[in-house]
Order: sequence, then C-alpha cells, then structure tokens
Amino acid sequence: MYRSLQIFAFSMLAAASIGALAQTSSIASYDQPALQTLASAPSEAELRTTITKLVSFGTRHTMSDTTSKTRGIGAARQWVKSRFESISHDCGGCIEVVTPSQTFTGKRLPTPTEVMDVVAIKRGKGDPNRVIVMTGHLDSRVTDVMNSKSDAPGANDDASGVAALIEAARLLSKQDNQATLVFAALSGEEQGLYGGKVLADYAVAQGWQVEADLNNDIIGNSRGQNGAIDNTSVRVFSEGTKSNETAAQATYRRYHGGEVDSPSRNMARYMANLADTYLPDLHVHMIYRTDRYGRGGDQVPFLEAGFPAVRVTESHEDYTRQHQDLRIGNTDKDRGVRYGDTIDGIDFRYLAHVTALNTLTMAALSRAPAPPTGVETEGALATDTTVKWNKVSGAIGYLVHWRDTTAPQWQYKQSVGDDDHTVLKDVVIDDWFFGVSSVSADGYESPVVFPGDSGSFTRSPAPASSSTAANH
Ligand SMILES: [Zn+2]
Repeated sequence: MYRSLQIFAFSMLAAASIGALAQTSSIASYDQPALQTLASAPSEAELRTTITKLVSFGTRHTMSDTTSKTRGIGAARQWVKSRFESISHDCGGCIEVVTPSQTFTGKRLPTPTEVMDVVAIKRGKGDPNRVIVMTGHLDSRVTDVMNSKSDAPGANDDASGVAALIEAARLLSKQDNQATLVFAALSGEEQGLYGGKVLADYAVAQGWQVEADLNNDIIGNSRGQNGAIDNTSVRVFSEGTKSNETAAQATYRRYHGGEVDSPSRNMARYMANLADTYLPDLHVHMIYRTDRYGRGGDQVPFLEAGFPAVRVTESHEDYTRQHQDLRIGNTDKDRGVRYGDTIDGIDFRYLAHVTALNTLTMAALSRAPAPPTGVETEGALATDTTVKWNKVSGAIGYLVHWRDTTAPQWQYKQSVGDDDHTVLKDVVIDDWFFGVSSVSADGYESPVVFPGDSGSFTRSPAPASSSTAANH
C-alpha cells in the first residue's frame, strides 16, 4: 500500500518536474543487500540455547541469590556478561560490557536491593554519541511478585527478549555501524521498572543522544490463551504524545496537530516499513498506546527521561503462562490447565522473525544519518507549503513526507537534495501532516520527524512524572 502510493506520488511529481523524479529515485534505497541478509540471519538454535540456559537458573527474581554460580539473578547476570564477552572476543573486542547498577527500596523491594543491568556497547564509527538501544528484562517472577525462591522459568517473560538482544548483538557485531548500538539485559522490571530507570539514568549521565529504545518483552509465543494462532504479526506499542510534554507544548499541539506523531510513533512507522520491505513473514501491528492496557514495561523510564521508545510484544498473549506458579489447575474452572512460563511455549521460528525486525531496525538506524532537527512548516493563507529543517551531518539529501491527517502511515514524499527547505507546490498546509527524513550517501533513511516539539527526536528534559503502571 505504502509503496504503491509512493509511486503514485512520484508520478504526480514527475508531471511537475522531471528533475525531481530523477532525484527521488536515486536518493533512498529500499533494497539494501545488507538488510536483506540480516532479515533471515537470526538463528533459532542460538535463541533456543540462550533461553534454555536462562531457564536453568531456576529463578531470576530480582531478590533471588546473587552469589550462587548456578541459581538466581546473580548467576544469570554473570552468564549474560560472559556471553557478551565471548561475542566481543569473536569480533576482535568490538563490544564493551558495562554493568550499571543502583540500589532501590520500594513497594515491591522491601529491603534495599541492588538492581544491576548487563549492557553491551558497540561504539559507532561515525557518530558514537548517537545511540540505538535494544532492551529486554532478565528478571522473572511467579504468582506472588515477592516470591524469590520458587522456580520462575520466565522463558517468554522475558528470556525471549534477552535471547533476541543477545542474538542481535551477535549478528551486528559482524557489521559496521555509524551510530552506537547498545544491547541491555535489564533487571528489576517486575519489581517496578527499576532496570529501565538504571539504564535511562546511565544514558543521561553519559550524554547519549538516544534515538530509540526498542524494548522487547514477551515476544516468543504465537498461540493466544483463546487458541488464536498467529506467527506472522507482532505488536509495536508507541505513545502518541511525549510523556514529558510541557503544558505550553500540549496547548500548541492540540491546536496544530501532533497527537499521533511523537518520535516513538514515527519509530513504530519506521519499523512497520522495514517489515513490509524485508520481512514477508512478519507484519508490524502498530498499536497507538504506550503499552498494553493498565500494564507497563522498561520503555516507560526511557520515555520519562525524554527519549523515544517503543515496546515490541507478541500479538496473542497466553496469561496462563505469565506470572504464574508452575502447577496444574485443579478447580472446576481450570482443571488440567498447565500454568507457568516454560520453554515449550516458545515458537522459535516466530521469535527469530521478531529478532530480525529488531536487528534490521538497529542496522538501518545506525547507518542512516541522525533524524533532522528544527523541522517546521509554513503556509497559512497560501496554496503551497514550505517545509524547513536543520541539516544533519552525514546526510546527502532529505525526503519530505506527507499524509492525510487520518492516515496511519506516510503516503507521499518528495526528494530534496542537500538543502534545508523546500516548497511543496499546490499542497495546502491545512489538509496534511508533514515530516522530514534524512538520507545517507549509501541510501539509508532516518525515521520521519514531525514538525515542532511534539515530533522532535531531540531529548526534551522536562521533569519526569511518576506514572509507573501498576502491573507489568
Ligand atoms: Zn516482562
């Protein structure tokens, strides 16, 4: 749909300017051989090995043993660290491993508890301060969130996410990246999204310009509790407006639009386009919400810190496998039901496809220039629209996009060379939403940036709210 509309847009423009058409067809490439290769690269065997290992630690509860070599969160953290180190060894030391931590006390952490993340960093060659993050959580739980003793295999929630990010690190360790790539196994998610806060705080302290956090939580099951089976779609949740938008920004945005164009939302659109182009067996189902209803995840502390972030989750969840004691149901309602998050619930082929979506997204973002800054539109009381932006380093051109105000995806686009503005003839500003992306010399395109504060990818450090959801 998107591509056929592009072609339609191109031919409209060609009628106006043959030069513009020639430029358009050469600037961005939607058939990158490196991305084609990555699309089928994730290994089901690697993913299975990782989840099997993580389940073998019995429980990975945040308050479980930290000293044992074989059981508990400490053993799991050590293993992930050694796995990252071994990937780094295989790429000549291309990855640095850090373990930021903070000690928290809270409703679900009655005694001060150290929450430690295990983080692999592959520095970018061209733009190392621009950072693309992928997260999943290492900790697990059973029915009672305070139970740190019982077996809590957490195969899907969220060993699946950790397996995906380790596999993405392995594959991308063999590729060049201009921006920095970060792969982080977080802890403390079930106790209150603490590990996401540890990493978001670390990113702020390091001065990272986080372009996106791709948070993967519960991504390996393709059979819903109601029997629905779907191994060809994945949900990508994104907030519509920025978590830390100020009152003045909200007032402006309510009048002019932007309620469905946060940078996180345009990141979701970017992922949906990559899936359409490179992953014939996976459709991105964009969900216009920060997370599932009444639930939360580690993308939330990133959003509160002013960074774009999305949550990736399987399409059909099975709640008999989430946050459950391992048991067989014995009441009239559930007799014979097997509860618990065990590895037999993982569809590894599906998990490999979701891993590919993440890997492709990180590769594409890290090779594209930074998204344009300072995007603005002008054109009231005129029949043309002027779109302006600040040029970014590494870009050889820009694409101006527009769409109907009710359309979920960008529909039309026009190529602009190495310039900082363009005039769209006979496109009336009132009737469309506009955005701009940047393009590298080798044809990689950044996400589209909606004008003004509501769409900017630049971190907006307004005070964070304490809006942590009740149930993760
Ligand atoms: Zn989870």
